[in-house]
Amino acid sequence: MCKIGIPRGMFFYDYYPFWKEFFEGLGIETVVSPKTNKEVLNAGIFSCVDEACLPVKIFHGHVEKLRDNVDYIFIPRIMSIERMEYCCPKVLGLPDMVKYSVKNVPQIIDTRINLRKSNIGYKKSVYETGKYLEKDLWEIRSSYTKAKKSYERYIYLLNKGVVPIEAIKMYNKAFKDINYSSSSHELTIMILGHPYVVYDEYLNMNLISKLMKNNVKIITPEMISKEEINKYSSKLPKRMFWTHGKRIVGSAFSLIEKRKIDGIIYLSSFGCGMDSILIDLVERKAISNGMPFTLLTLDEQTGEAGINTRIEAFIDMMKWRNKDENNISAFR
Ligand code: SF4
Repeated sequence: MCKIGIPRGMFFYDYYPFWKEFFEGLGIETVVSPKTNKEVLNAGIFSCVDEACLPVKIFHGHVEKLRDNVDYIFIPRIMSIERMEYCCPKVLGLPDMVKYSVKNVPQIIDTRINLRKSNIGYKKSVYETGKYLEKDLWEIRSSYTKAKKSYERYIYLLNKGVVPIEAIKMYNKAFKDINYSSSSHELTIMILGHPYVVYDEYLNMNLISKLMKNNVKIITPEMISKEEINKYSSKLPKRMFWTHGKRIVGSAFSLIEKRKIDGIIYLSSFGCGMDSILIDLVERKAISNGMPFTLLTLDEQTGEAGINTRIEAFIDMMKWRNKDENNISAFR
């Protein structure tokens, strides 16, 4: 049976449930690279160009881990995932970067996904991928239908407040058996950032688990509905044309205005051009609404002790403010 490698990085948390189901429906085995660890990071730093951002370097490390064990590597050329919107240029060029940086890389399936003009583009990309793998139309259609259902289930779980890392693990669980964690929490914190930073436990040093252990409820942009994101991002004077950017700003504006959270932690990777604008937009909104906000910038050298101290101080500050000391500054 032929094997397709899916690197656990970049848009993995956006598309994995769909493509896993699709390939397996076609009788193809999928192999996912291990969770990010020191070895993956070092392999990525070694093979990728120095100028790339940390998530792109980590992605190269994941390809290195899959390289010798699969027949193909799936790296879609994601140009646009929403009408009239774009992805970061580094995402567009990812298949080419990998092709020229990773030695002896197996054949790359670089399906072009471009929904800028119409949503039909996605179906077209799926059919092209099936045909590339020499599958007949009937097989492709039936796998596509199953994959769509699997993806809808994934989105349902995210909207219910399940973080993607957990939603992926609940692949075979019936909805009635899922614990949506409704127990009371002392604080609710929104974690902002690109999904490949927020959900990569190694890159962000297990931030989500650390907060959960402190009885903190986590909300991420992926848990907010599309309608809500569109409504609040449209409050910007100019339309946001990066999809992830719109998701981050729209979800943050919505929760800040509705005061559904106690504070915001923005996770950014060093060298991300998009973040330099998004952080400013969210921070200004948070300041004008008296909402606690902190920024954690991560790179290859970031130490865990420093991050832990920042998180502990941020949590303490929010607890004091919630008691009776709301005169405490919400910033820095
Ligand atoms: S948006 Fe930022 S983190 Fe993501 S690929 Fe582009 S530069 Fe890297």
